[in-house]
Amino acid sequence: MDSLSSRNHSKYGLQPRLNHDLPTLFAWLQGNGLTYNGERFDRPSNASLLGPEELDNNLAFAQATGRHASQPLTSEELKKLKDSFKDVSPGVSQEALWGAVLDASSSIRSLSWQKLPAEAMAFYRPFHLPPVDQWGIYLLIEPLLNYHNELLRLSQPLRLFSAETLMHLIVFEIFNHEFFHHLVESTATTLELILATQGQPQPVYLRHWHQQANNHFEHPHAPLEEALANAYAYNALGFISRMKVGCKTASVKAYQQAIIEHWHSEPAGYRDAKHYKGGGYIDGGTQLLAQLLDQPSIAEQVPISIIAKHVMPTGFSALMAKPYIPTWLVGSPEQLKIFNQLVPAPNEAYTQLFWPYNTDAIDTYIAKKKEEEKARKAALKAAQTQSKQQTDLWDE
Ligand SMILES: [Zn+2]
Repeated sequence: MDSLSSRNHSKYGLQPRLNHDLPTLFAWLQGNGLTYNGERFDRPSNASLLGPEELDNNLAFAQATGRHASQPLTSEELKKLKDSFKDVSPGVSQEALWGAVLDASSSIRSLSWQKLPAEAMAFYRPFHLPPVDQWGIYLLIEPLLNYHNELLRLSQPLRLFSAETLMHLIVFEIFNHEFFHHLVESTATTLELILATQGQPQPVYLRHWHQQANNHFEHPHAPLEEALANAYAYNALGFISRMKVGCKTASVKAYQQAIIEHWHSEPAGYRDAKHYKGGGYIDGGTQLLAQLLDQPSIAEQVPISIIAKHVMPTGFSALMAKPYIPTWLVGSPEQLKIFNQLVPAPNEAYTQLFWPYNTDAIDTYIAKKKEEEKARKAALKAAQTQSKQQTDLWDE
């Protein structure tokens, strides 16, 4: 655009004075009293839910322990990584994985997993709680490694997961759970902006934060946001399992089944995720929107479910996309080293479940089994049709 037309652009008000970047937004939120400006915001030591009661307490925040930003790899780095793993196959049983494709529930039946809530290993720090240079997703490497160790020990006899593939699945699930908290904050922020234009500014996010911690709405699945975050992570895994059937989709199928069967061991809210998996996310999003608006029964009069289905909180309404949301790995250099050996490309792992291992042989095996199964079913159907035709003939 040349300078003359650019001048005209702003002269006629086509270019808003306030920019659409996040620093402008954060300053506006703070300037309008929509943020919590307490001294501290800390993670509770018992890994329970973050709530207002945790503010201003005496716990140390992650910042001091050294946090490492997780960035996407360049295409060159990714290529190099794939190259270095081109002869490394994940140590899993192709027969066990095929069993999971056939019947995921039976394949994990003997697993007794004390599933922990995502917040035992990670948390989301909202930008409504300044200082804003600390907002984002924090993945706590030590608890992640401990949890992984325990689940690996329990699941080893199933031969469905290797140490590496299991950590990829765990970190994908945990990140996506935390990302949902960002979707909720993005949605609350959108509502705050819209309400402000109507001369009725409301602290939508902070109000929600307090109401949720006090179970203000007495929702049967409170805290609803945690149930929805768990369902979101489950559904995100579901998108992966729609890819061509092979090693990864089979691993995802088994892991998803294990999640469903072990949600019950998680705290209130988290354990109610089953109501909101698959298409249930629309009902859940509608209830959450109604809570954010402080109108819990508004969906009876206004079809806000249309917003929940198409606008927010859906993945597209996030203010920051998954690979670019500030994400911090928190741990000692030794812990980070172990984690990186398990997950060589963390950002790609938690956003797309990318892993660099060569799964060609397992993929081919599963595809072949799938063809055989298809042929077996077709033959069975043909035989049934033929026997039915013969019965019909005899009846005539
Ligand atoms: Zn959560």
